[in-house]
Amino acid sequence: MVLSAEILNGSRLAQSIRSQIRKKLKKLNLTPGLAVIQVGDDPASTIYIKHKQRDCDKVNFHSEIHKLPSDSSQQEIIKVVSELSTRSNIHGILVQMPLPEQIDEQNVIDSIPPEKDVDGLTPLNLGNLFINREGVTPCTPTGIIRLIELSGVPIEGKQAVCVGRSHLVGKPIGIMLLNRNATVTYCHSRTENLGEITKQADFLIAAVGKSEFITAEMVKPGAMVIDVGINSLDDRLVGDVKFDEVQQVAGYITPVPGGVGPLTRAMLLENTLKLAMS
Ligand code: NAP
Repeated sequence: MVLSAEILNGSRLAQSIRSQIRKKLKKLNLTPGLAVIQVGDDPASTIYIKHKQRDCDKVNFHSEIHKLPSDSSQQEIIKVVSELSTRSNIHGILVQMPLPEQIDEQNVIDSIPPEKDVDGLTPLNLGNLFINREGVTPCTPTGIIRLIELSGVPIEGKQAVCVGRSHLVGKPIGIMLLNRNATVTYCHSRTENLGEITKQADFLIAAVGKSEFITAEMVKPGAMVIDVGINSLDDRLVGDVKFDEVQQVAGYITPVPGGVGPLTRAMLLENTLKLAMS
């Protein structure tokens, strides 16, 4: 008999989070405002930003997109961040990544005031996460935690393996799982015997950016596999996990699309609201 993992439906959870936000907003005399800065014309970024703006419309948030040419200098981008920082109707500022090569992404992130840092990526907000202090946490890992919580599977004492160590996803999700008492292992491009390590994971987080990188033999039977990747392969959108074969081994799995992506956007709304209320 071929077993099939339970699918963790991110789209459905995101929808319910948006409806909770709408309800909350009705009781408040407040219009949360989100500003997104896009540098260049990366087609994937353009689609992500459109989705973010559509989500804002759905919950009656104010949103603006500030588009800059791909040859913008760091100073030009930081100037836009500074202007938005002074605006009272903008509560969250998001710089859409990736930025063009000539730009040092961290320098741009550093210019966002922590109280408007809607993706929780400034050193202060990441530091707060590190010391397990309440604050704004990065959207993608926060969404992953929500999906895990929805499943009801306990985190405490379990083995979690993060494949990927970016500031955006890999590192913070590991810290969030550690803060919830998982035993966490990070893997990256220099990791030896990767498959042996991933096979120990009760929670396997794939944030690699490589199409269908995680295969069935790398997964512990019954594990929860969270696929963060968004890659295009032969005109299809695929994750970092070989879904068809891994779902026959895993206990739980997130699909791509419809898994982590919609939750990331729902957390962006929650963080914007949180900043607007603070
Ligand atoms: P990233 O900054 O490129 O980081 C990729 C990580 O994967 C790095 O830590 C890298 O290791 C590691 N890696 C690369 N090759 C590897 C290998 N062969 N074995 C083990 N580890 C390897 O990417 P990211 O920003 O974290 O994003 C990862 C993926 O998630 C991308 O597909 C991105 O599009 C997607 N994403 C999705 C969402 C969403 O909402 N669903 C949000 C953000 C990102 P080193 O550190 O050693 O280089």
